[in-house]
Amino acid sequence: MTETSDLGKLPCVSEESIIEFLKRRLLSKIIYTWAGSNLIAVNPFEDVAGAEDPALNELIRRRDGARGPLPAHVHSIAQTAHHGLQAGTDQTVIISGESGAGKTFSAHRLLHYLVQLEASGSKGTGRTVEQKLNVSNPLLEAFGNARTTNNGNSSRFCKLFRLEYGGGRLRGGAVHTCLFEKTRVMWRGAGERSFHIFYQMVAGLPAGSLHALGLDRHASLSELSGHACDADATDFAVTESAMAELGLSGEQRAAVFAVLAALLHLSRLRVVARTDDQFEVEDDAALQWAARLLGVSAPQLAETLTEQQLAAGRSSVVRRPCQTEQEVLARRDCLVRELYDGLFRWLVEWINGQIASGSAAPRAISLLDISGFESLETNSLEQLCINYANERLQQFFLASFLRRLEAAFLEEGLIGARLEYPDNGRLLVALDGPAPSVFGALDEASGLRQVVPASQLSAEAQRAACAAPGAGGEHTFTVRHFCGPVSYDARALVAKNRDRVDATLTALLAGSSEWLVRQLPSPAAAPGTPRGARRRNTVLARLQLSVGALLRRLDGSDVQFVRCVRPNGAGAPGLVADAYMRRQLRAAGVLATARLSAAGFPFRLTPTEFVARYTELVELRQRAEPRPNNQLLTQTIERWTPDDPGVRVGTGHVFLTRGAWYRLGDLCQLA
Ligand code: ATP
Ligand code: MG
Repeated sequence: MTETSDLGKLPCVSEESIIEFLKRRLLSKIIYTWAGSNLIAVNPFEDVAGAEDPALNELIRRRDGARGPLPAHVHSIAQTAHHGLQAGTDQTVIISGESGAGKTFSAHRLLHYLVQLEASGSKGTGRTVEQKLNVSNPLLEAFGNARTTNNGNSSRFCKLFRLEYGGGRLRGGAVHTCLFEKTRVMWRGAGERSFHIFYQMVAGLPAGSLHALGLDRHASLSELSGHACDADATDFAVTESAMAELGLSGEQRAAVFAVLAALLHLSRLRVVARTDDQFEVEDDAALQWAARLLGVSAPQLAETLTEQQLAAGRSSVVRRPCQTEQEVLARRDCLVRELYDGLFRWLVEWINGQIASGSAAPRAISLLDISGFESLETNSLEQLCINYANERLQQFFLASFLRRLEAAFLEEGLIGARLEYPDNGRLLVALDGPAPSVFGALDEASGLRQVVPASQLSAEAQRAACAAPGAGGEHTFTVRHFCGPVSYDARALVAKNRDRVDATLTALLAGSSEWLVRQLPSPAAAPGTPRGARRRNTVLARLQLSVGALLRRLDGSDVQFVRCVRPNGAGAPGLVADAYMRRQLRAAGVLATARLSAAGFPFRLTPTEFVARYTELVELRQRAEPRPNNQLLTQTIERWTPDDPGVRVGTGHVFLTRGAWYRLGDLCQLA
């Protein structure tokens, strides 16, 4: 008998048995395993394509109409999604896992397989659509990915890629992004890089073009902390040709490079002291170049960077010179961040304009590449954001899972079958609901222009989250997330959540003579934003809106999960660190999913299969029936497991929970 490829069918489902099972498979270079209808993908950190043939051949047999379960493979996820789409339901694949676990790799495989399915199904059509969809990925990665200590090509944003179908054909797509790590452009950990595009541009632009932007290849590379690599110049060629394929003219590309160069000049600005408490930006080549490339005057740029705008009362503001060098540098950093954030947003919008399907109400397969739950030694706003997004996705998954189950029950004439499942709705209300909630408390504190003691915030957050005080001391609060408790440090949350962009910086960009620069300030930061926006214009409020908008796009779709797992911290092939895996499996809620799947009647037998399996339990009269009689079947079950909510007899199937499966198995002494 061939070994199962489904964790749910292991004789005993525990963390230890799951890890052992995954380890055994990885050592045989089998990286995909089912966990119910979800797929676990373990990153092999080596090419294992050779070991995939049996699974791929099985998939082809299934496509040709053979019966049996789909092989554990990421292509099966794509196949199921494509099938579901053809049956008329939108589809979503959520790919999650920690950094370096293989999310983007899996997303690429899914995308290519789906595009290829289309290409083989509709001869000669949509070629340009496919090309555009394919090249939009490297372009997004050039601007949104960076080398980190965990991953040489780490995505610093979450991405939803929609493939849109109309009239039975792939028509186009759309990209939506959130949680973009804009701070990386000015700040990153030791040994890490900024976004790839800076290195690519400096390594790949001809010397003459660099000169025209005030840059020198060698000087710029050493300023970019000397982390450039040989591949940057070739990657630049790929990025530039992707830009051209997506319709960006030479002039538009030059405008993009000018903004990037301006950011490099801004990061070289020097601050000098005029008096003890008055500072100014040195009028040097860096200032002149930055101003020229941004289409503003140098004195105006210098003044905007050294004068800050402060609130005086509810509606008036006063301006005062920065009193420390740090204040000036903080304003400069804020300007650089907002410019790069705006450039990334502009690029995403441009791509969307190019790949749009033009269909009025397209059907869609959505691929979501999003970081999984994080629980670090110290957790701050970044972890709260990502964990909140994951909590929302879990709720979304539960709703979709239960909807599918209900539909299956209704079809079988079973009404009112109740399921016990771990609902996270209450926790979400405590997080993002009306005050007193964690987000409410933080937004309130961020709106007040005064320091709020961390202890007060911590107390409010604790009360709202219905959680015990964290182990980390008086400054922490703990949230019981669906896959385990996470303690957050309350101290920097308010400042990070505020993330205010001074209106004078926004006004400076809005007055630029450069068309691209004028488009870069965030609409949320623009003066005169709609009512209520001022109080709610925080990181958490914006996150809540973007996650809400994202989920509305996925509404009503069937969901499958690909849980990517990194077997060891070193990125080494053939090595499994148990504790490392256990932490990720917990964060992915693999056991929780297995339990949910048990509550969800994972075993379904036709009456004939039921009688064949439990022959000993079935009366002779029933065995003699040419076709199993449902009433007799119900009586049989009632006699052997009275009032068992784990067994339901429908019109076409008998449904069994995992518990009932084992209870009946024990009665018949079945394995
Ligand atoms: P991040 O959150 O940092 O973006 P990620 O989960 O997207 O991380 P990837 O960039 O997809 O991680 O993968 C990390 C590395 O592992 C890449 O170099 C990738 O090529 C490799 N890798 C991932 N999955 C596989 C696989 N199935 N086979 C071979 N190599 C893989
Ligand atoms: Mg990635």
